[in-house]
Amino acid sequence: MTFARADLVSAATPIEPLPNLSALLGIDLHIKRDDLAGTTMGGNKSRQLEYYLGAAQQKNAQTVLITGAVQSNFVRTAAASAAKLGMKTIVQLEARVPDVDALYGSNGNVLLSRLLGVEVMHYPVGEDEAGADAALRARAEAEEAAGRTPYVIPLALGNPPLGALGYMRAAEEVIHQDPDFDVVVIASGSGLTHAGMLAGLRNAGHSVRVIGSCVRRDAEQQRHRIATVLEALSRLLGSPVPVSHDDIDIWDGALSPGYGRLGPQAAQAMAMMARSEGIVLDPVYTAKVFAAVPAMVKSGEIAAGARVLFVHTGGLASLFAYQSALENAFPHG
Ligand SMILES: *Cc1c(COP(=O)(O)O)cnc(C)c1O
Repeated sequence: MTFARADLVSAATPIEPLPNLSALLGIDLHIKRDDLAGTTMGGNKSRQLEYYLGAAQQKNAQTVLITGAVQSNFVRTAAASAAKLGMKTIVQLEARVPDVDALYGSNGNVLLSRLLGVEVMHYPVGEDEAGADAALRARAEAEEAAGRTPYVIPLALGNPPLGALGYMRAAEEVIHQDPDFDVVVIASGSGLTHAGMLAGLRNAGHSVRVIGSCVRRDAEQQRHRIATVLEALSRLLGSPVPVSHDDIDIWDGALSPGYGRLGPQAAQAMAMMARSEGIVLDPVYTAKVFAAVPAMVKSGEIAAGARVLFVHTGGLASLFAYQSALENAFPHG
């Protein structure tokens, strides 16, 4: 089966060695620079959007509608990518993170979306995927009534996981670049990135261990979510992806204190990566994801000397909206 794809990630993202962290941790660590994928500060959503916006183009859509957290990278990347393809974007921002300050609501991704000229709606609940989708579909109907063709990028489970196709493609890219990793460490949020990478590797017959590191839900909830996404992916592809339930490997040790909030383990991981390798992680996703690596080396779950690939999924645009959390975590030394 083939799917329409918009060309948003024009070249393979680099895999680079991290020699200083490798020496520090006693493993052979590499980084996949998906923070460089796509336009306007890029990230993993560029790969997912190749398939959503490909479908939108096939439908001759004029307006793209998308929902996400206030500091959503998906929303910002969709707005930038849609602009490039000549489509207008309507975004819906959900109140997912408690106790936020003024910068959270105005800087980072919010500022970039403003610059990109999107229409903004607000949704007052952060944990109501079906409700958020319904509000977006209602706005899409209004577009249709006004004579424009809309395309909705849905959020909830139960929709075809087109975004996972982007990470099946990324899996092929990794195998082509370097097929000899023992472990891949990757973000597990909506699950499209994690499920896509896992399915892509297994489809290609590759048995590298894939650890999904939680950014939004705990390990038990996330394991169910990934299983559900994999089932939906099998339906979308028209053939079962060869992933057993035991193959869904989840770590949630840095999730606390919850989605969109920086805890001490994630802050430590950010400092480690920045100060050893000069690479900045973001406080919402990649800091929590990378925290799995030192923690699992310490616990012995990642063996000494293992070849480990950490996938940097981007998210840097939100850094400046998290100024106060970052200042608290990193006092002037
Ligand atoms: C959205 C996002 C993730 C999580 O990806 P999912 O496909 O939703 O699991 C990870 N990192 C960054 C930077 C993101 O924006």
